Amino acid sequence: MTDADPLPLAQSLIRCASVTPADAGAQNVLAAFLEPLGFAVTRLRFGAIENLFARIGSDGPHFCFAGHTDVVPAGAAGWRTEPFAGEVRDGVLYGRGACDMKGAVAAFAAAAAGHLAAGKLRGSISLLITGDEEADAIDGTVRVLDWMAERGQIPDFCLVGEPTNPARLGEVIKIGRRGSITARITVHGTQGHVAYPHRCDNPVHRLVRALDAMLAAPLDAGTDWFEPSSLQVTTIDVGNPASNVVPASAGAVLNIRFNDRHTANSLEGWLRATLARYAERFEMTVSVSGESFLTSPGPAVDTLRAAVAAATGVQPRLDTGGGTSDARFIARHCPVAEFGLVGATMHQVDECVPVDELRALSAVYARVLAAFGV
Ligand SMILES: [Zn+2]
Repeated sequence: MTDADPLPLAQSLIRCASVTPADAGAQNVLAAFLEPLGFAVTRLRFGAIENLFARIGSDGPHFCFAGHTDVVPAGAAGWRTEPFAGEVRDGVLYGRGACDMKGAVAAFAAAAAGHLAAGKLRGSISLLITGDEEADAIDGTVRVLDWMAERGQIPDFCLVGEPTNPARLGEVIKIGRRGSITARITVHGTQGHVAYPHRCDNPVHRLVRALDAMLAAPLDAGTDWFEPSSLQVTTIDVGNPASNVVPASAGAVLNIRFNDRHTANSLEGWLRATLARYAERFEMTVSVSGESFLTSPGPAVDTLRAAVAAATGVQPRLDTGGGTSDARFIARHCPVAEFGLVGATMHQVDECVPVDELRALSAVYARVLAAFGV
């Protein structure tokens, strides 16, 4: 499908040590690849973060590839190769970002190059690339999307290149993700001597009863596309060194991964109401990493699925598992799905991708571009 090789671009990207928030020249490398192909590249710096939007064509359909050039740190443990050398050993490309997700960025750019070289462009192809995916994602995809929306640049469909496959290329397309909310709870009581409980108000008992009530029934039974939502208490903290003292307060932290039966708001309300049944005085702060979203299966997802199957010989499963990704922001604007490399080594020491798999992903993306008629 494409004769453009993604390997040299993937190596060049890995050689930029772009640990969030640093860019280290990574987006220059990408821009230098795209501009000669005819892409109009706009650099969008927000705060300390480099972002990039590139588009070729002005007609529809408009197909966008979204990804990130930032990476997590190499970590303290020793690597088999230099983590930012982009070295190929025995047919395997090593380096931080090889699979998450400089490899996929290079695969898409190469696929676009092949599509253009073959004279196949009918609509528009764009790339939404951020340097702020692995950290707070404040000055990244969200702000680029706002910029795109103001200029009428929202695509008809967006594909995020996160690693989605557990073991083999073609296994899994993600069409949604669960949301995530973390609650930090402190329950207050009245401190006192354990031998005189009528003079105390034990906050540990109140907290434990409230948590037990939260865990008593499942949040839901799951949906056609989502696992049941899951509440996990991650810590209960009292820090009381005395066995004969009822403490003044008790704390806990919990996280809920939730499907589209809930919103962060509805869950926060439920948590507060449950706490209020067991504790008169408490504080709760919540942080929301993202709402759940779903791109309902339909013609666009079918087109993507058929293209992946045709290119890989594997029938992909539609899935909504795993953590959050920037797709949660894109879903507010347009249909979005995710397909990338095998994720087995993401964020690990010796992160790597077999060169054959990298080229196969590029062939998948080339097939996808043709299937969407862009
Ligand atoms: Zn990633």
